[in-house]
Amino acid sequence: MTDSLFARILDRRDDLIALTQDLIRVPTRNPPGENYRDICALIEARLAPRGFACTLVRAEGAPGDSDRYPRWNLVARIEGARPGACVHFNGHTDVVTVGEGWTRDPFGAELDGDRIYGRGTCDMKGGIAAAILAVEAFVDEHPEFAGAIEISATADEESGGYGGVAHLAREGWFAPDRVQHVIIPEPLGKDSICLGHRGGWWAEIETHGRIAHGSMPFLGDCAVRHMGAVLQRFEEDLFPALAARRTDMPVIPDGARASTLNINAIHGGEPERAAGDTGLPAHNVPDRCRIQIDRRFLIEERVEDVEAEIVTLLEDLKARRPRFDYTLREVNRVLPSMTPEDAPVVREVRAAIREALGQEAGFVASPGSYDQKHIDRIGTLRNCIAYGPGRLELAHVPDEWVGVTDMLDSARVMARTLERLLLP
Ligand SMILES: [Zn+2]
Repeated sequence: MTDSLFARILDRRDDLIALTQDLIRVPTRNPPGENYRDICALIEARLAPRGFACTLVRAEGAPGDSDRYPRWNLVARIEGARPGACVHFNGHTDVVTVGEGWTRDPFGAELDGDRIYGRGTCDMKGGIAAAILAVEAFVDEHPEFAGAIEISATADEESGGYGGVAHLAREGWFAPDRVQHVIIPEPLGKDSICLGHRGGWWAEIETHGRIAHGSMPFLGDCAVRHMGAVLQRFEEDLFPALAARRTDMPVIPDGARASTLNINAIHGGEPERAAGDTGLPAHNVPDRCRIQIDRRFLIEERVEDVEAEIVTLLEDLKARRPRFDYTLREVNRVLPSMTPEDAPVVREVRAAIREALGQEAGFVASPGSYDQKHIDRIGTLRNCIAYGPGRLELAHVPDEWVGVTDMLDSARVMARTLERLLLP
């Protein structure tokens, strides 16, 4: 059985390439979150004639949703010949901004040797295409299968997933009595099973000062210097403390196995000058300085403690440093998620990797979060992993690519997983 299923997939190599190219050529940059309807329509046009019931769901009222940039999602479902479990493949359709440094057309989907180039090839339209191919081949091979299979194409993962999987989860699409196994073909590598991700806490810190003439700074109070004191405490106390904390989760790359903090932005005083502005600056003591911080935390940490650690540092500065005052505003929080190693979907994908690729799967966890958080926290479904063909280090970079062989291999694993889960 398995051999003919694998042959079916390998026979469809050209189809897989064409499907991936079609997906890449719909530019779904987020922000702003464009062309979601078009990419859903493309997938629907492929799956509906093959017997999938397709539902378009707009996440009305989600962040970023507007009539100009509506947040459309697609759920496609095919029923088997008798009752059984439902296996759900979820892929996000949005891609990040193109950025500088490309030598290929980011939306041209150029095939060169074994690689398809373009924004979103690796993260994660190549994964969506591989999942679609796997499901189609499985259904053709085993029309008598038990249970159901779903493929969802969802919006906004790159900006938190609130207009995508979070919305679907809230509407009950991932309720445990509806869906029992979830595979998200994010780019974690075809021989790795991603069990979950770290948490994130995002906040804005502002220091306050008093404006005065720049020639007499002693008459004012420089908010940038106060922020300098915050950054100094980060360097001396916080960064070493974070680096010393290590998780038992198999987070990759190794540097992300510790707690981390990034300072996403800093701004204080005069606004950034517009390009072409030839005027000279006015001279002021800045009365406000802001930073945005991106704190990634471990499953062993509590988000309340993550926040308290920053507050304690700031309160300590307030007690010691004359005229120091601040405001702290939380921007967002995401809790860590981790599927147990003995969960059914982990077990079966692991066996499928062994059977399809002749390899022992490694367990990994993602340094950043992805839509698993919503399936876990809102959908309350823990039996969820990320498994897909792309290579993590190629996500979001210039000249992003996905390997055709990697897609075919992961499609074989996904199809074999369906055999293990949905055949009697
Ligand atoms: Zn992704």
